[in-house]
Amino acid sequence: MTEVVASEIRNRLEIVRENIEDALRRSGREGEEVRILVAGKYYSAGQIAALKEAGAVLLGENRAEDLAEKQGKFGDDFEWHFIGHVQRRKAKEVVPRVSLIHSVDSVRLIEELAKRAGSADGESVEILLQVNVSGEESKYGVGEGEIEELLEAAAVTEGKVSIRGFMTLAPMVEEAREVRYVFAKLKEIRDSLKRSWSPHFELAELSMGMSNDYAAAVEEGATIVRIGRTLIEEDVPVRRQDGS
Ligand SMILES: *Cc1c(COP(=O)(O)O)cnc(C)c1O
Repeated sequence: MTEVVASEIRNRLEIVRENIEDALRRSGREGEEVRILVAGKYYSAGQIAALKEAGAVLLGENRAEDLAEKQGKFGDDFEWHFIGHVQRRKAKEVVPRVSLIHSVDSVRLIEELAKRAGSADGESVEILLQVNVSGEESKYGVGEGEIEELLEAAAVTEGKVSIRGFMTLAPMVEEAREVRYVFAKLKEIRDSLKRSWSPHFELAELSMGMSNDYAAAVEEGATIVRIGRTLIEEDVPVRRQDGS
């Protein structure tokens, strides 16, 4: 497969930005900010350099090894997040390298992260809880009924682990409209937990939406979208998303 050239990455990133602006306008969220996280797992070093030039600022990695390797090359060029499943034994490698971990889904992991807090300038470890909204079996993420247990586990770390909000992976489908309910549900879960948990955690972030469905996710309240293939793959439609 021939690599998508740098100028094309720039064009596509611009289209994603416009689609997000349109989705914000359509849903009455005009003026709100949605951050574009580029999911780097499919990107070559050359394409990551092109991303930087195109103005991408936020990169997410799925594996501790990839994170270390890419940071070795691109260090301060990006802000780094972790979006993959976190193995507990890898936590100490991941924590000092990222400003947000999107994919926390167990009490034991929260306890492990609390031990690693402080390795990044004495700061707390900032996380999102990954929620399995659709109930699909093979996915990581906690069910709705388990979320409070994790909030409690983070609350007793007394600031070492700070929950900033929630993340979800929607099932793979052809049409974004088939997964819109997942995004709406995550926002509903967040809104209701926010009422009782806001003294502890603001829960402001909703990390949801990928290449095929980010416009729908933004309409339903996403604050971070995680974009991978649509910036670099030939066969992923970049046609303007209308979120329907
Ligand atoms: C790969 C990945 C994405 C991006 O997926 P695309 O469909 O390529 O946009 C988003 N989130 C996570 C957790 C991923 O692993």
